[in-house]
Amino acid sequence: MASKVCIVGGGPAGVMLAFLLARSGVPVTILEKHEDFFRDFRGDTIHPSTLQLMHELGLLDEFLKVPHDELTQVSLSLDGHLSPIADFTSLPTVCKMIVFMPQWDFLDFLADHGRRYPTFDLRMGIEVTDLIEEDGRVVGVKAGEEEFRAHLVIGADGRHSIVRDKAGFEVEEFGVPIDVLWTKIPKAKEMTEQALGYFGGGNFLVLINRGDYYQTGVLIRKGDFDGIQKAGLPAFRQRILSTAPFLSGYVDAVDDWSKVRLLTVQIDRLKKWHRPGLLCIGDSAHAMSPAGGVGVNLAIQDAVATANMLTAGLLSGKIDGSDLQRVQDRRLRPTKQIQGFQVFFHKRIANASATGQTNLRLPLWFARHFQFIRRFVARMTGIGPLPEHIETKPG
Ligand SMILES: Cc1cc2nc3c(=O)[nH]c(=O)nc-3n(C[C@H](O)[C@H](O)[C@H](O)COP(=O)(O)OP(=O)(O)OC[C@H]3O[C@@H](n4cnc5c(N)ncnc54)[C@H](O)[C@@H]3O)c2cc1C
Repeated sequence: MASKVCIVGGGPAGVMLAFLLARSGVPVTILEKHEDFFRDFRGDTIHPSTLQLMHELGLLDEFLKVPHDELTQVSLSLDGHLSPIADFTSLPTVCKMIVFMPQWDFLDFLADHGRRYPTFDLRMGIEVTDLIEEDGRVVGVKAGEEEFRAHLVIGADGRHSIVRDKAGFEVEEFGVPIDVLWTKIPKAKEMTEQALGYFGGGNFLVLINRGDYYQTGVLIRKGDFDGIQKAGLPAFRQRILSTAPFLSGYVDAVDDWSKVRLLTVQIDRLKKWHRPGLLCIGDSAHAMSPAGGVGVNLAIQDAVATANMLTAGLLSGKIDGSDLQRVQDRRLRPTKQIQGFQVFFHKRIANASATGQTNLRLPLWFARHFQFIRRFVARMTGIGPLPEHIETKPG
């Protein structure tokens, strides 16, 4: 008899894994604490590797009908000078671009497809509060009074994972010197900027075009938010304008602190991702920062690897610790490499913010002049160090 799986968390990792397992006939319940997928900004990037997976699943054409923007090249602006840093046009994937799509549309798309399989059971508005353990093995989860029993529990509940806490996993923390303030800056629909990131005067801004507004991320030093609030909104708006002067007039819409949201950034990794009856994947196993816009990709790659490595065992009812360890072994190296890059990037940004000197001039000069660097950056962000492919079959 097939083993039952319970996934905690309906983010990219959880929904992708649930979809893949159900597609192969594994009974899977996925519990998401929110009533819908519409919530804080957490990354709109759909990477070429994810588009490749959609292609392998035969869903690409339908997926690309969901409204989105496409970028074949990513640029950064440093003190008003534009530098291309990533060129996706020569990637060995069917889609040689990054797609920007609100994450809720992406998750809705996957969930809608998951619901077509009889073993897919998505429960929204269920917040997991504890694990159920018997004889040293995790055998399910509790959501208040309700219990969900399963042969395997997957923690895919993100960087504030309750699953990892309750399981008592040891966490390796990597200090992160920055946080992000997110806000929305309304704009004219036809206004498009060529860069994704703007550096200037030690400040760094991310602008994501969402039609009639820019989803705007202002990087700050960790702990600085109180001081920024005390300095007042005019100073905050000026900080944005000094980096992106073309927002003059538009930025006035940020007229109340309730429109600015602090998102703390963390990078960490579990030493061991599993226990009998339990496996963590995605941010729950390794919290990612927004740097490089790669966390969603990594979470999805974890989900695909998990499905590839566990589906046969789940269908035959035979999964043990060595299977779970194989998932960790496979995904650990790409995770370490990407987190290493993020730690490096944060140090540079934090230095820039402390000194007012943006020490990215030289790397950007190289990226501007050497195409192989732009292609390398595109490969690392768009595909990642160990791309996964769909190996499971429809059940
Ligand atoms: C500010 C910010 C911006 C980012 N921008 C980008 C970007 O542009 N591109 C990119 O690739 N990455 C970005 N990242 C990283 C990216 O968001 C994560 O790496 C990625 O979302 C991880 O996916 P996940 O499915 O593992 O976890 P999550 O996306 O965090 O999903 C976890 C899910 O679990 C649910 N959940 C949590 N606790 C419970 C519970 N107790 N019971 C039930 N459900 C629960 C949550 O509601 C959530 O839906 C950003 C991160 C931050 C902090």
